[in-house]
Amino acid sequence: MQKEKTFVIIKPDGIQRSLIGEVVKRFERIGLKLVGLKMQIPTIEMVEKHYTLDPEWLRKVGEKSIQGYVSKGQTPPSADPLVTGNKVLDVLKKYMTSGPVVIMCWQGAHAVGIVRKIVGGTEPLTSDVGTIRGDFVLDSYQISDTVGRAIRNLIHASGSVEEANNEINLWFRPEELLNYRLIQDAILYDVNLDSILE
Ligand code: UDP
Ligand code: MG
Repeated sequence: MQKEKTFVIIKPDGIQRSLIGEVVKRFERIGLKLVGLKMQIPTIEMVEKHYTLDPEWLRKVGEKSIQGYVSKGQTPPSADPLVTGNKVLDVLKKYMTSGPVVIMCWQGAHAVGIVRKIVGGTEPLTSDVGTIRGDFVLDSYQISDTVGRAIRNLIHASGSVEEANNEINLWFRPEELLNYRLIQDAILYDVNLDSILE
């Protein structure tokens, strides 16, 4: 279980807001281990592949977007989740290719769920206080939908173990992921804390 891996991108707005250190700090201090790290400017092809790894994602994000419009009393661009999902994908391609991003793989017990908890909900307006999206940015569907852009929420983090494995395989070559021991792993996971006393 302590080998569970998750995949994280600090999106272009996160780099421009000088939040690399802040984000890394939050994952480090909870006890996760950084096993892969690189910086690049994503291509449109990679962004499209990334968001369509899950064949259901387009429909799910379309439904989420329609729900966002409806809850504000607005009419969605289309009642068809697939059409609306494709609109989200279009604006995401622009957003994610607009500048450098930091790509990371973090490992540890419950890595996927723990990272999602630290990152917070998709819409910064309603993300919990104390989460990265809740603490460092103020965007909302209302603002982003009105001007037809992606919601700027600083981070991508895998939503499930399966999604994480697919995303890690897409963005990292196997040799880019490191296998190593962190001394703190003993304190987090060992049955007996018998390495402390001299
Ligand atoms: N997104 C958006 N408008 C929407 C739904 C999603 O701009 O109506 C963007 C947002 O940047 C989000 C990304 O698409 O982070 C991926 O959507 P998903 O539903 O997977 O949210 P996440 O897993 O990132 O919280
Ligand atoms: Mg997602």
